[in-house]
Amino acid sequence: MARELFTARLLRKECISESSQCYHFVFSVEDHESFPFAPGQFMSALAQDPNGKQQTRAYSIASAPHANQFELCVNRVDNGFFSNHLADLTDLPPGGAIQVHGPHGHFTLREPVTDSILISTGTGIAPMRGFAQWLFPKDGPDRSQGKDIWMVYGTRHETELYYREEFEELAARHPNFHYLPTLSRAGEDWKGLRGYVQEHVARIVEERAARLGLTLPTPEPDPAIPAAELKFDIHAYICGLNNMVAGVRECLAGYGWHRKQIVFERYD
Ligand SMILES: Cc1cc2nc3c(=O)[nH]c(=O)nc-3n(C[C@H](O)[C@H](O)[C@H](O)COP(=O)(O)OP(=O)(O)OC[C@H]3O[C@@H](n4cnc5c(N)ncnc54)[C@H](O)[C@@H]3O)c2cc1C
Repeated sequence: MARELFTARLLRKECISESSQCYHFVFSVEDHESFPFAPGQFMSALAQDPNGKQQTRAYSIASAPHANQFELCVNRVDNGFFSNHLADLTDLPPGGAIQVHGPHGHFTLREPVTDSILISTGTGIAPMRGFAQWLFPKDGPDRSQGKDIWMVYGTRHETELYYREEFEELAARHPNFHYLPTLSRAGEDWKGLRGYVQEHVARIVEERAARLGLTLPTPEPDPAIPAAELKFDIHAYICGLNNMVAGVRECLAGYGWHRKQIVFERYD
């Protein structure tokens, strides 16, 4: 069956990091009053390359559902076609347009909401921003149900901490939202966390276990219980390039986490 194609028109574009050439985009879906999706899903975007060949790329939605809009967070990739095509779109009225289909994907929050560790690097922050907006809406009731939500975000340099002010502001308003940016190539004046995301995820898991009096590693779930019936009190959501995703999955598997507790999206 042919997929329904939508025209998405660019309302706003902002360069959110000069050093990594990362852009934030706000699109509206033409001829639709609303555009529903689950936070964390992605859109498939289509455009013709200079050789007239149709190219399709996936982009995580960087927002929670709002009217007929969706937002993206994309960085230019050297010699890449689509990322540069997007970054070069104009937001001057009426705004450049792309064809999209979607929403797609299962990288979505598991319900009911549990304690959650949101782990990402680079533009992997996109779906995490959607989760954060949905859990802690600006105008609406808090959906986090008081669960601890850790956002562990790794980049190389401070200038690549996308949406930093938004997350700091969220953490200031919600004591159960913990924003933990970590830099792998921090300058001397950086006062925050250093190193790779895995190290901080491990610390969160261990400290939480100590606080709740759990023994580590968590015992393997009883194989007699079907996976669909297993209930977990914590999940990890991981998004970014495969190396990092694999590293975090391995780290959590080392603590005896079940595969259903670890939800991930790989960009490569
Ligand atoms: C489910 C999903 C969601 C995604 N969400 C996002 C998102 O929110 N934001 C975002 O920026 N990207 C996202 N991506 C990656 C995106 O789909 C493209 O791969 C990326 O924009 C590069 O496309 P391009 O056409 O510019 O480069 P291409 O022309 O496809 O590739 C050019 C060269 O760059 C290399 N390359 C491809 N991708 C990357 C990369 N990400 N980093 C470094 N080198 C790369 C390729 O190996 C190739 O050598 C997502 C991918 C998937 C599968």
